[in-house]
Amino acid sequence: MRDGELVAKSSPSRREEVSLVEQWARVRGRLQAEVGEVEYRTWLKQVALAGIDGDEVTVILPTRFLRDWVNKEYGDLITTLWQEENAAIRRVDIRTGPSRGTAPNLAEPPIPAASHAPPVARAEVIAPLDQRFTFDTFVVGKPNEFAYACARRVAEAPATAGFNPLFLYGGVGLGKTHLMHAIAWELSTKPRNGQKTSVAYMSAEKFMYRFINALRSQSTLEFKNELRSVDVLMIDDLQFLIGKDNTQEEFFHTFNALVDAGKQIVISADKSPSDLSGLEDRLRTRLGCGMVADLHATTFELRISILEAKAQRAGVEVPGKVLEFLARKITTNVRELEGALNRLVAHANLFDRQLTLETAHEVLHDVLKAFDRKITIQEIQKKVAEHYNIRVTEMSSARRARNIARPRQVAMYLAKQLTSKSLPDIGRHFGDRDHTTVMHAVSRVTELMAQDAAFGEDVELLRRMLEN
Ligand code: ADP
Ligand code: MG
Repeated sequence: MRDGELVAKSSPSRREEVSLVEQWARVRGRLQAEVGEVEYRTWLKQVALAGIDGDEVTVILPTRFLRDWVNKEYGDLITTLWQEENAAIRRVDIRTGPSRGTAPNLAEPPIPAASHAPPVARAEVIAPLDQRFTFDTFVVGKPNEFAYACARRVAEAPATAGFNPLFLYGGVGLGKTHLMHAIAWELSTKPRNGQKTSVAYMSAEKFMYRFINALRSQSTLEFKNELRSVDVLMIDDLQFLIGKDNTQEEFFHTFNALVDAGKQIVISADKSPSDLSGLEDRLRTRLGCGMVADLHATTFELRISILEAKAQRAGVEVPGKVLEFLARKITTNVRELEGALNRLVAHANLFDRQLTLETAHEVLHDVLKAFDRKITIQEIQKKVAEHYNIRVTEMSSARRARNIARPRQVAMYLAKQLTSKSLPDIGRHFGDRDHTTVMHAVSRVTELMAQDAAFGEDVELLRRMLEN
């Protein structure tokens, strides 16, 4: 099971549920008393109860950063308080999951056993939606405007020809799930023609889980009817079905039945249909025959807009310089970007300090280290040699001709700037040169960059190419 995909492993009775919720309320109260109001509000307010399985209670937090922090700082305390409240509890599992306000919440209702499952149980199919993931909170920019427009269109007029199925794809943390939830919110809250649209949203993993459960409890017919009764079926992270042939088969039939009945399907995956090798050909073909929309990697501008929107929503003022710093450092994943911002804001709240570039460096030191791509000296040598049109072996040769020595110095300079290697270490990579030679190269290039604008631009260009 992955983060954020909570399933009720056992099915507590209604009474057990109620008493669990009461216990949780008391644990929260004591937690608050133990750590004090400020700390509680900063770190613990968002902890939500997810469920219980035997002697293990699961609580969830909305971000990985908060989860790790709470685990490290408060894990033991939370466990102790739980055990004092309920002696049967051995372990508390702290993980990430969608936040649904601050009210205590239990995991999704357990799947009803075949005997008392209603013939059409629409509500059962609908997985909880994240309240933060709406069209209003989605920031549109060049890389995602097409996907956004398609999502809007489907939300306004599901099952329009040309938009069915809608297939959204892109890398991790670029907004696929956000857009899907936005469609689901829009459809399930706004009646069309006086009728409510029933939407089933679930991850492919959950789809498989439910399918297997249905097989086990011999209720596949109910499962199928349940799915086929909805107006819109949304399956998130379809790549999960790769290699799961039986589930794929079932999905394919459901898919066909729904499309034939004029229902809308929305799918997300990390790759385009044609690149999802490992999915059956006929399924790939059908997936690609509606609208396929790509969520591209974010641009600097989009990252800034997203950060601005989030900061505004959080009601904090973050200096432009700090936002720029974040947008430059964290480039691949909006979730990580948000996490870093949350952390800064929490820190500022906690210590009642002004947010500055220095604080950002300090607070995010360890986070950013993970994002610093490791540039190697070999890469630098190769790029610089290419750029100056010399052989890469000249980087370690003894030749002192200007047209060779200068590029070599540039490479040494960049190695000093872009890696964490020591001067002697760098020297070793350049034909076993002495660290004083490297030092000299660094100061010479610095000097030249200040004197000669064209040279300076050249070096900057190289740096940018290497950093990307
Ligand atoms: P994916 O499903 O593609 O891995 P998510 O939809 O879960 O990514 O997005 C990760 C996080 O980044 C979510 O908190 C989401 O709200 C946020 N996010 C991504 N793109 C945007 C955007 N364009 N505007 C606002 N928030 C975004
Ligand atoms: Mg997702």
